[in-house]
Amino acid sequence: MSQQVVTRFAPSPTGYLHIGSARAALFNWVFARKTGGKMLLRIEDTDRERSTEEAIEAIYDGLKWLGLEWDGEPILQFGRAARHAEIAHELLARGQAYKCYCTPEELAQMREEARAAGLPPRYNGYWRDRDPSEAPEGVAPVIRIKAPLSGEIVVDDHVQGKVVFKTENLDDFIILRSDGTPTYMLAVVVDDHDMNVTHIIRGDDHLTNAARQIVIYNAMGWNIPEMAHIPLIHGPDGAKLSKRHGALGVGAYRQMGYLPAAMRNYIARLGWSHGDEEIFSTEQMVEWFSLDGLNKGAARFDFVKLESVNGHY
Ligand code: GLU
Repeated sequence: MSQQVVTRFAPSPTGYLHIGSARAALFNWVFARKTGGKMLLRIEDTDRERSTEEAIEAIYDGLKWLGLEWDGEPILQFGRAARHAEIAHELLARGQAYKCYCTPEELAQMREEARAAGLPPRYNGYWRDRDPSEAPEGVAPVIRIKAPLSGEIVVDDHVQGKVVFKTENLDDFIILRSDGTPTYMLAVVVDDHDMNVTHIIRGDDHLTNAARQIVIYNAMGWNIPEMAHIPLIHGPDGAKLSKRHGALGVGAYRQMGYLPAAMRNYIARLGWSHGDEEIFSTEQMVEWFSLDGLNKGAARFDFVKLESVNGHY
């Protein structure tokens, strides 16, 4: 028997539930329903300054209004910080990670050197092979993972195809900060692993993160979930989606009187298509959906079209 599909929607509660996030939630939900799997909800509240209770409530309300119910209890990422730190220390013990004592001034100088050499800002591996007994007094270290020094990391993606990253462009990035808190990169991998996530469906702004996350999966010897990175939603003119052109919270659409079924239909079409079908029921979407039907090109949000879809419901 093949493994049960587990997807997850993992929003950061730093603002309203944005239309682009709602679309990611929809695809995770549809795919789980289609395959008899589960969609989990993980609230990525590790940014303590920007995460708010109101935003968490807005996520719950928005998903419920859209009819995208998740399975089980929501997982609050911040509550798992001890587990994230445990994995960082395990990587350290295995020699796959190391403590870095560089000061902000030293890091600034490294960035400057990289810039002068025409390279992207990167950490130069200063503490990678250095004896920790040389550590300066009073500097709390971060933990960095040892990224492979040569070769490639391939993200084999359902939407983007095989995307190749040269490992020399992925530096030894931080997994645990000097105050012991995990970085996004580490927390996401540990949580997806512990939650048995089989498929990651999210915006393609996370594609380079995927390459770094694969470095962590490989270092731990964990299975890499299947991935689908969907192109972001643009405005009708092809530019970044602005407020005027639809970059609003789900609650705003609700207030404007749009119906949940129409929203599901319309946002599904912003990134997925089934032939020329414009109007379909949620049951049909579940029946027809496949990851390989996700579009490669950026979607364009258009109020006129949303209006017309809404008129059918
Ligand atoms: N929390 C991230 C965000 O809201 C998403 C993380 C992920 O899907 O891996 O952009």
